Amino acid sequence: MSIDLTNVKLCIFDVDSTLTSTKSGATFRKSAQDWQWMPGRLEKLHALKAAGIGMAIATNQGGVAFGYFEVTDILRELQAMARIAGIPKGGLYICYTHPKASIEQFRAVDNRRKPGPGMLLEAMRDFEAEAEETLYVGDLPEDEEAAKNAGVAFMHASKFFEEDGSVALQSPPTRNSA
Ligand SMILES: [Mg+2]
Repeated sequence: MSIDLTNVKLCIFDVDSTLTSTKSGATFRKSAQDWQWMPGRLEKLHALKAAGIGMAIATNQGGVAFGYFEVTDILRELQAMARIAGIPKGGLYICYTHPKASIEQFRAVDNRRKPGPGMLLEAMRDFEAEAEETLYVGDLPEDEEAAKNAGVAFMHASKFFEEDGSVALQSPPTRNSA
């Protein structure tokens, strides 16, 4: 059985424990550079790109709000990751805020922060994808909740990347303006 992406125009991905794990083996990254690709991720992302499916990243990086790493450092790593994966520059949605942040400038209740739908809605707007054409792939309940709040389908990363090697890859439906 394969995962049917026939009607999916935009695939949005969580990052930590969805696309990447830590090099250190810690649950949370110890530094901005503490990441490595999880098995099979890069291959599938390249296949999605080749099939013409839009790809974006939506990630909470609240570590910034507690001073574990700097915005410039994590941004550089995520940009490098996106470049390698073939995700466009504009397809990177990052939330640095946290309601209990120790650093005041990042302390906020933010609709962008998952489980809020903000980042997913931004991606859908930028990629001109309707809710029914969008899939969010993540690993946590907050990811599933964010998808629900944005009205889009959710798939767990383990299912999307690991349960079955094959993905039904077809170009998204073309829109005839006639
Ligand atoms: Mg995650």
